[in-house]
Amino acid sequence: MDCLFCKIVAGTIPAKKLFEDESVLAFADISPKAPVHILIIPKKHYASLNEFGNGNVGADEELLLGHLYSVAARLAGTQGLTGGYRTVNNTGPDGGQTVDHLHVHLMGGREMQWPPG
Ligand code: AMP
Ligand code: ZN
Repeated sequence: MDCLFCKIVAGTIPAKKLFEDESVLAFADISPKAPVHILIIPKKHYASLNEFGNGNVGADEELLLGHLYSVAARLAGTQGLTGGYRTVNNTGPDGGQTVDHLHVHLMGGREMQWPPG
């Protein structure tokens, strides 16, 4: 499959890995928008969060979505983001998604603005 993040999972494209278990991988964003900017992805390919919106989501997939966020929180702790942080999921063109493999951004180390652009 011609998917950038699947290639990072497979190891054919390098990344600075920060966490890995059987179902998820976290690595440094190549173009950081904050002092800490990490992407947390499922190892299995899902194009976006929208794949979970069809009413046929299995229990394993519900757990996977939660796991992405609990790994983000764990990384926030190991990265020392004691003042808070932001988790972001961009979905589809209007959501600003540019890589079509589900991912959660973990950003921190500076004060975030609201609303995002
Ligand atoms: P999004 O715009 O939400 O789809 O986020 C995609 C993110 O992937 C962007 O923040 C990019 O900087 C990041 N990105 C693109 N290519 C790579 C790469 N090879 N390694 C790490 N991060 C990447
Ligand atoms: Zn993929």
